[in-house]
Amino acid sequence: MKALPRPPRPRPVVAVIPFEEASTTAAKVIAAHVSGYLDLPADILPPVDIPFAALDETRLQYNAATLIGAIEAMPLADYFRAIALLDVDLFIPLFTHVFGEARQNGRVALVSLFRLQAHMDGSSPSADRILERVAKIALHEAGHLLNLLHCDDERCLMHFCGDVDRLDQTPLNFCRHCRTALRRARRGYETANAGP
Ligand SMILES: [Zn+2]
Ligand SMILES: [Zn+2]
Repeated sequence: MKALPRPPRPRPVVAVIPFEEASTTAAKVIAAHVSGYLDLPADILPPVDIPFAALDETRLQYNAATLIGAIEAMPLADYFRAIALLDVDLFIPLFTHVFGEARQNGRVALVSLFRLQAHMDGSSPSADRILERVAKIALHEAGHLLNLLHCDDERCLMHFCGDVDRLDQTPLNFCRHCRTALRRARRGYETANAGP
């Protein structure tokens, strides 16, 4: 008698959540890069409203930590991690703005299109360039969700980058060290969820 084939392990799925008017194309680009680079399937969820409490009325920007807290409270138990896409200006205290935000090994990352839609001199990049920037920020923040720290290698997506022109010079790739760390993190998750 042959043993029955084992059911496939559940694969960890990443939720991509567009907020309000955030571009559907950009959400698709994030989902495609999460599956292509991180080997994690991604679902794009229907758009949701930005919680009003996240607006800082003095700065007229949105508080990234408040947003992350609000998304963590959403019913997303079926998802391994969530990446929120917004088109509003995000900040964390001590910084004028951020392109994205995620806690180390957290469940929720933010990516904002707001600052990616202009060059440092104020001119407009092409639509393709903006989407490439979105992909880079999303992969960087997803790296943090998989427990990666910032990387010293300037040609790696996990290198900290606070300016869009420098972001354009960074190749759309992780260094060898970070690729290994990503694989290990994913395997660790799959083993922990393999069941008896
Ligand atoms: Zn970072
Ligand atoms: Zn690296």
